[in-house]
Amino acid sequence: MVAPEVMEAMEEAASGFVDLDRLLIESGRHLAGLLECEAALVTAGAAAGLSLAAAACMAGTDPARIAALPDTRGLRDEFVIPRTHRNPYDQAIRTAGGRMVEIGSAIDTSPWELKAALGEDTAAVLFFAQSALLEASPPLRTVLEVAHGRGIPVIVDAAAELPPADNLRRFTGEGADLVLFSGGKDLRGPQGTGLMLGREDLVSAARLHGPPHHAVGRPMKVDKESVMGLVRAVELYLEEDHGERKRVWEGQVERIGRALSAVEGLGVETGHPVQPYCQPAVIPRVFISFGPGLRQRGLNAAEAVRLLRSGDPPVAAMSRRGVLHINPHMLEPGEEEIIIHRLREIAAPGK
Ligand SMILES: *Cc1c(COP(=O)(O)O)cnc(C)c1O
Repeated sequence: MVAPEVMEAMEEAASGFVDLDRLLIESGRHLAGLLECEAALVTAGAAAGLSLAAAACMAGTDPARIAALPDTRGLRDEFVIPRTHRNPYDQAIRTAGGRMVEIGSAIDTSPWELKAALGEDTAAVLFFAQSALLEASPPLRTVLEVAHGRGIPVIVDAAAELPPADNLRRFTGEGADLVLFSGGKDLRGPQGTGLMLGREDLVSAARLHGPPHHAVGRPMKVDKESVMGLVRAVELYLEEDHGERKRVWEGQVERIGRALSAVEGLGVETGHPVQPYCQPAVIPRVFISFGPGLRQRGLNAAEAVRLLRSGDPPVAAMSRRGVLHINPHMLEPGEEEIIIHRLREIAAPGK
């Protein structure tokens, strides 16, 4: 949900005229100052940011090359990615004309495999921050070292890597060339925004591939209201008491866990997720498994997800390998009671 201060900033932006390119430059300068990186750009979401990042790494600032995309003849257009980092969002790279080149196996990726894949046609190396949780993932430090040894930029998709708030500075601090965050996830900016951070030359090139310019990113328009809304959201995020947010989530998880432990047939644990697709991993969860008695009458984690979703109000949860995950991230204080109530109804109807 968007804070009233963000809505105010958007409303103010709606009542004036502005040169859009200049707004992107100035807002980017302000954001880069706040986030202690070289440059920043507001994009129409992290996925749009990936497309613009890809375009920048392939075509730079040359107007003929910018106009040619997504046709990449004569351009470096390969994006090298560890196999364990492939994900549904990387289609955004191909949207701009990029080609994916996978390296490594499901078990491991060695620095020599990365080195061997880099060549004349390499536009950038992609690093999907969620996959860093996997044992098979190469560390970002190694990827940066090898890629930079060849003068090749590294793009980090960190769209859902907040909290912790330090991540806003961490990846650029470690030397990543371009980093993408979603503006509509934990930052709670306008839903359709994203944040690109990184090297001045690449961020300005990315801007030329996006709106209002006539380029491959022109359909990824970001309105002036959203730009100002995201700026305000980032300011608020940096002022926020993240320790307090964490304590609220811990309390909610504790209450849900305690209440549901008393329900016959439910196995309840609390803790932190350890696999990808459970971002952000720093937020505690309730993990619920369903005993044989419940399963016999058709109640398992997947069915619980369906029932929670179809209730009023609908509750969004996730099932993974037979375990129901409850994530307090988007709960207002007190809303955990709704979840306790619904899950009691589902697991112990009539009690
Ligand atoms: C959510 C997400 C995106 C897309 O972000 P949007 O801001 O919705 O465009 C990209 N990559 C990853 C890893 C994500 O989790």
